[in-house]
Amino acid sequence: AADPKEARIAADFPILATTNSRGKRLVYLDSAASSQKPRAVIASLVDYYEHYNANIHRGVYEIAARATDAFEAARAKVARFVNAADTAEIIWTRNTTEAINLVSFSWGLANLGPGDAILTTQLEHHSNLVPWQLLAAKTGAQLRYIPADADGELVLDDLETLLDGVKLVALTHVSNTIGSIAPLDVIVPRAHAHGAVVLVDAAQSVPHMPVDVQALDVDFLAASGHKMCGPTGIGFLYGKRALLEAMPPFLTGGDMIKRVSYETTSFNELPWKFEAGTSNIADAIGLGAAVDYLSAIGMEWIRAHEIRLTAYALDALRGLEARGLHVYGTRDAARRGGVISFNFGDIHAHDLASILDTEGVCVRAGHHCTMPLMEKMGWPATARASFYLYTTEADVDALVRALDKAAGVFGLG
Ligand code: PMP
Repeated sequence: AADPKEARIAADFPILATTNSRGKRLVYLDSAASSQKPRAVIASLVDYYEHYNANIHRGVYEIAARATDAFEAARAKVARFVNAADTAEIIWTRNTTEAINLVSFSWGLANLGPGDAILTTQLEHHSNLVPWQLLAAKTGAQLRYIPADADGELVLDDLETLLDGVKLVALTHVSNTIGSIAPLDVIVPRAHAHGAVVLVDAAQSVPHMPVDVQALDVDFLAASGHKMCGPTGIGFLYGKRALLEAMPPFLTGGDMIKRVSYETTSFNELPWKFEAGTSNIADAIGLGAAVDYLSAIGMEWIRAHEIRLTAYALDALRGLEARGLHVYGTRDAARRGGVISFNFGDIHAHDLASILDTEGVCVRAGHHCTMPLMEKMGWPATARASFYLYTTEADVDALVRALDKAAGVFGLG
């Protein structure tokens, strides 16, 4: 039976009460691309703009001080949310992509050279792949891949050999395409034993499960606010203080300086050393509100809810397999995030997504920014349904009904 908490959560998200132009209820199954926003987050943005909009850090007047306090309080909330030892270890960025690029340009260019290697995986989103390809080309370092099996689980048999000479391991925590979860408890200590630094792309984990950067002992971790009930245009990089202290700035200009003369510049302390120019003040405050909201629900509850829902969906979809539905990834819901990729007979994933849209069911179709993985798996595209705290069994039922309709439209059995 559905948890009564579900209905209360759904009521927190105004968009979930809307219908499409055909009068169909919004069945939003694309949270891996971007999540919906609860009223509390939307209200925090309006409150900022209506009551204390001002630039931060330099203003002496009341609303500027209030904006500065709220902006820095939001950073502290994010630090607590991922259990960073120190608030200064949280750097605001636009998104996961910018956080990874910060590490690539700052840490990467300063620390890598010919003879060094970067180890990533075959599962990566382009955001955690293209920066390393470019860094390898610039520095002469080699780029290597941990292989994935047909279920998208990492194959660690040759990990020791792959780690030889590696200075950076950059990997996704949860695959946005197939939902598999990387065994960080195995990989991180072995990477450290080889003297490598570990960066985790947590775009699909921080929103969905408890993530503790100290327990995981990761060196860098990147995430996006818009996937965790926060606004677009705000994300963060966590980095261990000693690493961040030793790194040169990424972008330069105002705010990231301590003192500037015509000849030279000294840089600001952490975290501001990495925050050049006026920050995205409103959206950082909004992300703070999102973290408050998620914490009040409880990350343990959200993870358990998504496992329950994924198990329910995997089971419900099984009924369509005889008609040609192919679901990818492991059948064990506890071993995956709330992301299910599939294809249906020879219906192109985009056509499938269009039919589902007529029923109000929003899924993504395509390569999900993982073109090398699609090529390796031999999938031209997949349709992907992804879940979050506000997703219900009724949403999964609507997906199954819409797929049934698509089968009829395309004459599949
Ligand atoms: N990594 C993963 C695993 C993702 O799912 C995404 C978003 N699809 C990103 C990185 C990039 O996130 P953003 O576009 O917010 O930078």
